[in-house]
Amino acid sequence: MDFVGIDKFSLLDYDENVSVVLFAPTCNFRCPFCHNGQSVLENNLAIPFDEILDFLKTRTGLIDAVVVSGGEPTLMNDLVSKIEKIKELGFKIKLDTNGTNPDVLRELLRKNLLNYIAMDIKNSEDKYAETVGVTNPLLSKIKESISIIMNSGIDYEFRTTLVAEYHSKESIEKMGELIKGANKLYLQKFVDREGVIKKGLHPIEEVWALSFKEILLGYVKQVELRGY
Ligand code: SF4
Repeated sequence: MDFVGIDKFSLLDYDENVSVVLFAPTCNFRCPFCHNGQSVLENNLAIPFDEILDFLKTRTGLIDAVVVSGGEPTLMNDLVSKIEKIKELGFKIKLDTNGTNPDVLRELLRKNLLNYIAMDIKNSEDKYAETVGVTNPLLSKIKESISIIMNSGIDYEFRTTLVAEYHSKESIEKMGELIKGANKLYLQKFVDREGVIKKGLHPIEEVWALSFKEILLGYVKQVELRGY
């Protein structure tokens, strides 16, 4: 299975690292606020992996990291071997995931292929299905991934895109229970732009985001706003 997109220069996706970002072809969720609707809903722009490797070889010493993003990368049947080949070139690897595939996560960690994991925590358990746009949001897998990541010993973040139509003080309080004891959570501002799966959604205002942060500091060591 091939990646379907590449951002050849990013300063925004992995802390202070200069990165190349690769986009996986599909996703098992349909989050209404997803900006990657094209890669989630279509799968027709495959980039041969050899081309990606050839490009990355020209970036040795110029970039720090490769961000493997989506769609949902862990749905790629050969993700582990692809990341192995990228890692052999000497780049750090950040994985973006929705947490639905703990087996792949475990394998990547077992092979010591990841430097950083960013996992989406979409909402409280009872609001998860609605927030990700599917009837079965695979909650047991998501909880397994949360546990794997929190016990992995590598740097990680959880992150939540705040959308007025889906998040409330009540759902945020319950969401905190899911990641109790975690190191870091980012609360991201939703931006309505071209390509979003569902039109007409709204961001949470900053004053509310700050109150959500206060609630979540009861569960998570560090909570930051992103994009506000
Ligand atoms: S936001 Fe992430 S998990 Fe949700 S549909 Fe888009 S790619 Fe999939």
